[in-house]
Amino acid sequence: MSNDSLTAQNENFSEWYNQIIQKAELADYAPVRGCMVVRPYGWALWENIQKALDARFKATGHQNAAFPLFIPMSFLEKEKEHVEGFSPELAVVTHGGGQELEEPLVVRPTSETIIGYMYSKWIKSYRDLPVLINQWANVVRWEMRTRLFLRTLEFYWQEGHTAHATAAEAEEETLRMLHIYEDFAVNEAAIPVITGMKSETEKFAGAVHSYTIEAMMGDTKALQSGTSHNLGQNFAKAFDIQYLDTQNQLQYCWTTSWGLSTRFVGAIIMTHGDDQGLILPPRLAPIQVVIVPIFRNEDEQQKVMEYAEKVKNALSAFRITLDDRFEQTPGYKFNDWEMRGVPLRIEIGPRDVANDKVVIARRDIPGKAGKSFVEFNALPQTVQQLLDELHLSMLQKATDFRDEHIINAASYDELKEAVQNGWAYSHWCESKACEAKIKEDTKATIRCIPLSQEHTKGTCVVCGKATNTKAYFAKAY
Ligand SMILES: [Zn+2]
Repeated sequence: MSNDSLTAQNENFSEWYNQIIQKAELADYAPVRGCMVVRPYGWALWENIQKALDARFKATGHQNAAFPLFIPMSFLEKEKEHVEGFSPELAVVTHGGGQELEEPLVVRPTSETIIGYMYSKWIKSYRDLPVLINQWANVVRWEMRTRLFLRTLEFYWQEGHTAHATAAEAEEETLRMLHIYEDFAVNEAAIPVITGMKSETEKFAGAVHSYTIEAMMGDTKALQSGTSHNLGQNFAKAFDIQYLDTQNQLQYCWTTSWGLSTRFVGAIIMTHGDDQGLILPPRLAPIQVVIVPIFRNEDEQQKVMEYAEKVKNALSAFRITLDDRFEQTPGYKFNDWEMRGVPLRIEIGPRDVANDKVVIARRDIPGKAGKSFVEFNALPQTVQQLLDELHLSMLQKATDFRDEHIINAASYDELKEAVQNGWAYSHWCESKACEAKIKEDTKATIRCIPLSQEHTKGTCVVCGKATNTKAYFAKAY
């Protein structure tokens, strides 16, 4: 494998994205159109994403469980908006065991309905609340236009489903999980995100309202990277999720759902990658440090390999690999690990062994500027320090890039211009008509109405009506 044929980002970002996934061996195309095979390196990245999120879910009182892949068709029909939203994407099983089924089964596109059905059996009194359950699962949505990780027929995710006694508690939970996604994106993936509410048009089918974390990719398009939905009593009423309150009165529950998927791998690729390949955030990288030994003859080989093993042992607290492929040159290996986005590379040659020092190269800073000599005894502290520095500078770089490409567009012409190569932040009257016009004219959609905004007085960029709400508009994946 080599990177000499990797298309440059500014030449064709979409082609760059497709190639990098293949070359870094993250995923491959499956024989069924639109399906994805996640390869071991990609899955290891997803596993680290899972670990980081799962720890946060558990720390906030959630438990994991597993619900079935098949859902009776009639369940989806119980919530009107939900079935309308998902019908075009459903995979439906009509036969099983060689016989036609009495009722068709849907392969879950999401699990609000079946989990709601189970909650109606489990929840009896206010003492049973809140119910805080998450599941790690695969889901199927029959998409017509697919991209590896970003949009595939089958994808992997977590979906949290909670039930509460009051509207206020459900809203609190919805926001709590939104902020957990934000914290994860920033502090694990080094991806800056904007948190906000989805417009009525863009919200989840069946939700009262949806919150989102939105990230800007390297081509300035937006990627919805995680969502948290306040479902109000919509699903509780559809599935009869009721409880007896302290006054012995029957009440409907208030429910939420929230999810983050393998799409996030796409966010990592497109936020941080460059023309040499991936750059993985150190806290999620399957391999944080790779050791590349350099030698010319057998005598050198023995000394260098011995020392490399010693360095590897000294750094056993990190996810570290010693590249002992003797058939490949160091130059080939450098390119290979750069393509795979390993944050730190340790180079060890005979002179380094003699000096009891190694060279450490940062993936995010090319050439000499990113290299430093480190004494053996200082290795663990220095590697930790470098990984933390890498994380912070990746986050800073992505934040600067994003902020440079967000334009405060005060007129419709400015908005149209801004969304050609960035996002527009503009006053909007909150009408569906103005939102639809922007989408029709520019292909940009409302990414979110940010939670933190000053609500300054202004006028809708489309219709001129007075409003104090601003929203982000962008083309999106
Ligand atoms: Zn308007």
